[in-house]
Amino acid sequence: MEKLAKDGAHPDFFVINCIDPRNGADLVFDAQPGQQFIHSQMAAIIPPYNANRQCEVGASLSYAIDTKKIKHLIVMGHSLCGGVSALVDGTSDHYIDSWTKMAGQAKTAAKTKVGANDHTVLQHETERQVVIMSLRNLMEYPMVKKALQEGRLTVNGWFFDMEKGTLHEYNPATKAFKQLNIVPPVVQDNNICIYPRPPKSPPGIAP
Ligand SMILES: [Zn+2]
Repeated sequence: MEKLAKDGAHPDFFVINCIDPRNGADLVFDAQPGQQFIHSQMAAIIPPYNANRQCEVGASLSYAIDTKKIKHLIVMGHSLCGGVSALVDGTSDHYIDSWTKMAGQAKTAAKTKVGANDHTVLQHETERQVVIMSLRNLMEYPMVKKALQEGRLTVNGWFFDMEKGTLHEYNPATKAFKQLNIVPPVVQDNNICIYPRPPKSPPGIAP
């Protein structure tokens, strides 16, 4: 922290995750202080871009992409997500309901794909569809769009399977998630972790 306070932080990664304390990006990636920007919001839902409405994620994205020049943007959903449960099952909580219903199209896409007879299957599929929807919405934010066009940013949708401890990356070309082979981070002499395998943009996402 002393070094970070003196030199500042220059992370390459920006991770948007759910507020669930079991899936924080610092925990999942075993990250060190200053290594990544983390933006937490329920179910990692990215609202559709609206030029007339200021939202916190827009400010965070603008700072991280245009000022701090991050290279990799990741939206990460997870299994057993309470926010997605609220979306699937409905909730009487006004605040949660008004937030999760922004991902209504993800629920519809999941129902179309797997039906609604098996609740567990529908929950699993909706969790993944929320990542896909959020990824699509992210692409509409002007700072993301511009950085992609300039070839200085990758954008990926990841899913953390909490029970198995595995990470899965969405590939728009195959419209499927594929498990990532994560290698352990390397700890340097200065105690800063680096990841030998930076996330690669799947086809269709890379500029
Ligand atoms: Zn969650």
